[in-house]
Amino acid sequence: MQGLMQEQQLLISMLLKHAERHHSDTEIVSRRVEGDIHRYGYADMARRARKLANALDRAGLAEGDRVASIAWNGYRHMELYFGVSGSGRVMHTINPRMHPRQITWVINHAEDRVVCFDATFLPIVQAVHANCPTVRHWVLLCDADALPPDSGVPGLISYEAWIGGETDTYNWPQLDEHAAAGLCYTSGTTGDPKGALYSHRSTILHAYAGALPDAIGLGAADAMLPVVPMFHVNAWGLPYVAALVGCKVVFPGPAMDGKSLYELMEAEKVTFAAGVPTIWQMLLTHLQDNNLKFSTLQRTIVGGSALPAAMQRTFEDEFGVAAIHAWGMTETSPLGSVARLKNRQLDLPEEEKRRILNTQGRAIFGIDMKIVDDDGNEQPWDGKAFGDLWVRGPWIASAYFKSDQNPLKTDQDGLSWFPTGDVATIDPDGFMHITDRSKDVIKSGGEWISSIDIENVAMSHRGVAMAACIGMPHPKWGERPVVAVVRKPDADVTREQILALYSDKLAKWQIPDDVVFVEEIPLGATGKMQKRKLREQLKDYSLPDLQDL
Ligand code: AMP
Repeated sequence: MQGLMQEQQLLISMLLKHAERHHSDTEIVSRRVEGDIHRYGYADMARRARKLANALDRAGLAEGDRVASIAWNGYRHMELYFGVSGSGRVMHTINPRMHPRQITWVINHAEDRVVCFDATFLPIVQAVHANCPTVRHWVLLCDADALPPDSGVPGLISYEAWIGGETDTYNWPQLDEHAAAGLCYTSGTTGDPKGALYSHRSTILHAYAGALPDAIGLGAADAMLPVVPMFHVNAWGLPYVAALVGCKVVFPGPAMDGKSLYELMEAEKVTFAAGVPTIWQMLLTHLQDNNLKFSTLQRTIVGGSALPAAMQRTFEDEFGVAAIHAWGMTETSPLGSVARLKNRQLDLPEEEKRRILNTQGRAIFGIDMKIVDDDGNEQPWDGKAFGDLWVRGPWIASAYFKSDQNPLKTDQDGLSWFPTGDVATIDPDGFMHITDRSKDVIKSGGEWISSIDIENVAMSHRGVAMAACIGMPHPKWGERPVVAVVRKPDADVTREQILALYSDKLAKWQIPDDVVFVEEIPLGATGKMQKRKLREQLKDYSLPDLQDL
């Protein structure tokens, strides 16, 4: 027997319609690339998203066509999120920190039809546009009179001129909720970037689950500041959660330094913020150096890489702000787990509570997780046994965009799981703690660096017999890459010669901080480099003090 409830597809346009109707004058405040502060309400945002949808129709974009952004967190970017996906196209957010070669690769792989970008990123567009034949329109996210006269980008138009002449009425299409809505490439594994393709349904379910009190926990009384970029897993889905709950949104634009963030938080009475530890470190240092306090901030969600226990304590003890640890990845939309105490844990000793809150947390509703050994056997939830972390759920990737490879694993019960590449323990209460990473990558300031890319460049030197790149702990960036090199017999290759090889191959921040020469690199029975052993071997090594990344 079927239930007798109305049938309605879960669509991103629902969020926009809801926010416009119920929170029309709730503010969306943005620090713009131009430096000034822009503010308007959800109703204005919705109106302009409809104009944008009309502009996309006029440009002849079909359902499913990709529209890319290379942009900071701001109101125009938010309009793109809703106008592009709401009208049935796919919002492809590009990470500007990638090397221009990789940016060209993802634009071509996605077959983007339109690329909208902030003025900051004009040099990227100048470098890549000639090699992106699928792009019909390059749109600068700026006022009509702010277009540079000699950009060198043929046909460049300003966003305001582009949408300016359009009407603000639009009938959002009734799409299939399984239709693609967003595309985000991750370089969190080796090889070419891989595209996670979100659907309307996965985005809405993720927003519902994310808004829950034990997840992100947002409501209409909040003022939210997403420091996490909208080009990194849709700012953890926060723009959608914001429209769902109708909270005030404060976008920092390009100004991510401690002083600018602090001033914006205070001026706009921000109650909630989200970002990676590196950003918070800069913010806390600014407050400590200038003897400042937060007057409205209550909570921060910290994820992307492990939240250092000392940072969590500083937030709480010095500033009275809860630093809530969360885990996720591009392929998981990203929310997977959040560290929130259970009722009976409230009476535990303070130190024990802190230990629990410093784990990566419990799976939120909708996510199933388990840890397995090399043969896929589930490991006990005893807080001691560790294994590869596998996850499944309605907002977990089932495949990558335009890829034949099946990333999933099938367990003994025939269920499909996404292997995260993280190694973790899970305690009897379900709190997951990441202890290591099985994927061969390094995360610096919340962004990926492929150790294989670094090794391949080092190996291209005639004097190098073997190279192994590992991440070394760094107080500001979390990890920095260091490459261990075995010289060929009689070769006299130097550190400087190897470092010089990287300058035109990797983005500056991806270049290893150091080269250390070793006699040998530990190998396993199958000849695979044993990086865990190499890390032990180099435990007394300390990174050079490089300021400029
Ligand atoms: P990305 O796809 O770039 O968001 O990266 C996802 C990966 O970042 C995860 O698989 C983890 O390796 C790492 N990560 C994310 N959140 C955390 C966290 N809270 N603690 C440790 N590692 C994390």
